[in-house]
Amino acid sequence: MTERAILVLDAGTTSTRAMLYAPDGERIATAQRDLTQYYPQPGRVEHDADEIWDRTLECARQLVSEAGGPDRIVAIGITNQRETVVAWDRRTGKPLTRAIVWQDRRTASQCAALREAGHEAFVQDRTGLILDPYFSATKMRWMLDEVPAVAQAGDALALGTVESWLLWKLTGGLHLTDASNASRTQLMALDGAGWDEELCALFGVPVAALPGITDNAGDFGTTLPDLLGGPVPIRGLAGDQQAATIGQGCLSPGAAKATLGTGAFILTPLGEALPRSRHRLLGTVLCQIGGRRLYALEGSIFVAGSLIQWLRDRMGMIDRAADTDAIARSVSDNGGVYMLPALAGLGAPHWRPDATARITGLTHATGRAHIVRAALESIAHQVHDLAGAFAADGAAWKSLRIDGGMSANDWIAQDMADMLDMVVDRPADVETTARGAAMLAAVGAGLFPDLDSAARMTSPSSRFVPAIEKHRRTERLTRWSDLLTEGR
Ligand code: ADP
Repeated sequence: MTERAILVLDAGTTSTRAMLYAPDGERIATAQRDLTQYYPQPGRVEHDADEIWDRTLECARQLVSEAGGPDRIVAIGITNQRETVVAWDRRTGKPLTRAIVWQDRRTASQCAALREAGHEAFVQDRTGLILDPYFSATKMRWMLDEVPAVAQAGDALALGTVESWLLWKLTGGLHLTDASNASRTQLMALDGAGWDEELCALFGVPVAALPGITDNAGDFGTTLPDLLGGPVPIRGLAGDQQAATIGQGCLSPGAAKATLGTGAFILTPLGEALPRSRHRLLGTVLCQIGGRRLYALEGSIFVAGSLIQWLRDRMGMIDRAADTDAIARSVSDNGGVYMLPALAGLGAPHWRPDATARITGLTHATGRAHIVRAALESIAHQVHDLAGAFAADGAAWKSLRIDGGMSANDWIAQDMADMLDMVVDRPADVETTARGAAMLAAVGAGLFPDLDSAARMTSPSSRFVPAIEKHRRTERLTRWSDLLTEGR
């Protein structure tokens, strides 16, 4: 390799990874370490921030060595699980408590109290987000209220999301976040350059503890020389779902990406238009470069790949997730079986946290394959409903690009094209999150003048074209809609 490589650090929820990319977008190497999940009580999910740092550093060191030394790295891009909060001491650089992970529900009552006090419309209008424990602000407040070390840290307190924590450790004390991550804290106005004083006061978060908000591509300092054998510039920062949208080359309105993992996250860019959802989608910052902010609309489905895990681990119906493709193909249709996959309530656009799952249409003729097929079909049904909400908010998709572990399933990809009546594209390399961070770092390092030019780093894709007969599609969607109504 003659050209210098881009090193991406991807601090995810269940693992931390590092990847090396050539400037043309070829992925050269990958390192991965699992991350411990702590479940101290029902509804609570925590990480050890020191472990996130240690694993990230291990992965980075491995790839710097594979690249041939720090001089072979042109820039680092960081992408991360969003919303997760870390509190640390500026003097020691040590975490003051475990990180509270995005999935953690411990602040549900705090959110309910704010809603009852009539604050939701204000918060939604200013941040694009609904009042939910998912976001960072109430998690920060919880730490201040409940953890003495955080409450007593005073001026030494640093609060941030995971990219801030990593940047601090890598640079030895630079306290910055990027606009995409900041837009998930509920403390920044969608169109505000810095932290919003009214929001910080409402949630009770001290502005002085928060990082400065910057672009997604630019100069974020260099790594301490000892860490990687020499200083390496950090040039890109972004939250994982925004990075995946960029990595898919979804940069203008009409494009949409769906990451099909444990859950499904769908984003569509809106350009410079401020997102205003009337259908409980989330408004978010896609990225900011040169101070110019691009926005996106986002919808999440809580149960996607986790439904396949449930079929495997709880029902014992399948041995491996990948087997579901052949099982679905082994029957000509669903045999009248439909599934409402509300194993963890229903997310966007229905937002029915208390809904439970159901399977209908069972007869003596129903076999395992029908149930598996009904489960797979329920993924496309949910995405279809989200497509409707995006369209109703004026952000209709023209095509959909998929990624994530579940997107490997050809049957699901085709079914999604059929149900959406829309072309579905799947890149050959579905690691779009890391690729997006690499694109941002490439722009930040001056390898490309802008993201549109960096889009040549995206990988070629396979295409799934709608093929289902119209009456079968209508029948499917009608029966799904009935199931949703019955489930109320
Ligand atoms: P996450 O990033 O949320 O941990 P991944 O993107 O790694 O998730 O995707 C893993 C999920 O995808 C699992 O829930 C698994 O059940 C599902 N999955 C993986 N491969 C397939 C497949 N071939 N068909 C259907 N589902 C799959």
